[in-house]
Amino acid sequence: MEKRKCLECGDTFDGRQDKKFCSDQCRTTYFNRQNTDQNKFMRNINNILRKNRRILEALNPSGNTTVTKTALLDEGFKFAYFTNEYKTKTGKVYRFCYEHGYLQLENNLYALVFRKEYVD
Ligand SMILES: [Zn+2]
Repeated sequence: MEKRKCLECGDTFDGRQDKKFCSDQCRTTYFNRQNTDQNKFMRNINNILRKNRRILEALNPSGNTTVTKTALLDEGFKFAYFTNEYKTKTGKVYRFCYEHGYLQLENNLYALVFRKEYVD
């Protein structure tokens, strides 16, 4: 038997090489906390995506609007977060937050678009 160090509480214990925890309780605590952290991370990103979508939706009641970059930023839009990209044959790149999307135009303008169908 080798002395092992518990990943959760740091106590040493006797166990096989592949044993990482001194007890079931420590193992459970460890994985629960990991899940919580991951859930928190995902929740934060989901919130950003939902907010981006809300902003696009609010600024685009007609389904076909042009707005300034400032208008988006003023609402708290985060350009780094989107759900998918769509590239046209002519090389234009639409970025979507769910069904609402935008296309960068010249002079810091953005064309807002809306689409219903899901694309793989
Ligand atoms: Zn432990």
